Amino acid sequence: MDMSQYLLTADAVLTMAPGHPVIAKGAVLTKGDKIIAVGAAADVERMAPAAKSKDFGKAVLMPGLVNAHMHSGFLRGTAEGLPLWDWLRLYIDPMHRVLAPGDAEASSWLCYGESLLAGTTTAVDMWRYMAGSARAAEKLGLRVVMVPYVGEAAGFDYFDTLDDNETLIRDWHGAANGRINVWVGVEHQFYFTPEACRRAVAMCDTYGVGLHTHSNESQVEIPEARKRHGMLPMQALEKLGLLSPRTVLLAHCVWLDPLEIELLQKYNVGVAHNPTSNMKLASGAAPVEALIAAGIAVGIGSDGEKENNNLDIFEEMKVVSLLAKFRAMRADALDSWDILRSATIEGARAIGMAERIGSLEPGKQADIIAVRGDNAHMTPFIVEGPFQNLHHNLVHAAQSGDVAMTMVDGAIVAENGVLLTGDMPAYIDAIERVSREVIARRSAWLAKNTGGAHSPV
Ligand SMILES: [Zn+2]
Repeated sequence: MDMSQYLLTADAVLTMAPGHPVIAKGAVLTKGDKIIAVGAAADVERMAPAAKSKDFGKAVLMPGLVNAHMHSGFLRGTAEGLPLWDWLRLYIDPMHRVLAPGDAEASSWLCYGESLLAGTTTAVDMWRYMAGSARAAEKLGLRVVMVPYVGEAAGFDYFDTLDDNETLIRDWHGAANGRINVWVGVEHQFYFTPEACRRAVAMCDTYGVGLHTHSNESQVEIPEARKRHGMLPMQALEKLGLLSPRTVLLAHCVWLDPLEIELLQKYNVGVAHNPTSNMKLASGAAPVEALIAAGIAVGIGSDGEKENNNLDIFEEMKVVSLLAKFRAMRADALDSWDILRSATIEGARAIGMAERIGSLEPGKQADIIAVRGDNAHMTPFIVEGPFQNLHHNLVHAAQSGDVAMTMVDGAIVAENGVLLTGDMPAYIDAIERVSREVIARRSAWLAKNTGGAHSPV
């Protein structure tokens, strides 16, 4: 490992440690892949006179953002205007039927590059044929939790399988200095037999990995779970063995009965909140305030490129805030600090990584971003005092284009809008071609087959 040291300084350091201390004229010192000191620049500078120094001036250094749920796809803007299950049947599932490994890989290169440029240093990605995604994450420098879209029930044989998932875990889990993690993926409980659920859980135990699935996203899941199991969706997950004290992350959790919130608490389940997707697909507004009040770790996800339509967690923080306030009809619903915590340390906790990432503290991995504060929309830039607005600016004013530097595991991977670890123009060209090819293959498939997916509902 490269053991070089960086001394990063800026007008503000937002550590996201407990109590949200903000250090004016602060510094972060890194060595190799770790943070070794955080404090006032005047003090930290003395600790490592030989470190490479980078001063960001009127900017904030903060933990890299955690995208707790995304799909690294390529259908942006081509699958619009339908509610969830129709959208799956007509656009998404037929795409999965014709998708080839090379298409999936090309898309991960683009999406991981987009993520790093936008200040995301860790992403939970549910996608297909993910050996290609692993190659992209390894080279580009993103920290990933890779979770294949697995289907294991009649009618869903066009997804990845648990066998594929197991091979991916064996080949890649823990690679690249632990940056690459592979969990067990369950597209949805309706896409799995009870027997396959048992195997998924056994794989989590065998390999010591987490499990991720979509749940309680749209209202139609409730009568469907009642029909299949005579109970609520979350109760069905418990019955199927998919809830357990091991790391479990559920995307969406929009429609929740109080009994289901108790289950999330009981099993210490993490939730990935995807407000743009939930509004765009007209799924609903998740009860995030209640989840946070119940002590549940809530991270923020962009969801896929086709339901957002970008992978910008700065924008998503603003949407989290607006939706919570609109839902409650209260301007004080969800504080900016709660939202910043969700995008950093609580997102890390939701994926079982709070010991390693999510805040700027000595001993943690050096996943750090610098966000400019010298532009019009970040002005005034008040770091401390009674009118401190740094946290409000980061949630409501900052944009991903303000990210001046992205560091993962102590390596600078993007700077001033340029991806240093890869060739972004080439990834864009590849997806211009791949997206058109896959859409053409999907049209051909749909012309020969009625319907599209084996719709579960
Ligand atoms: Zn999703």
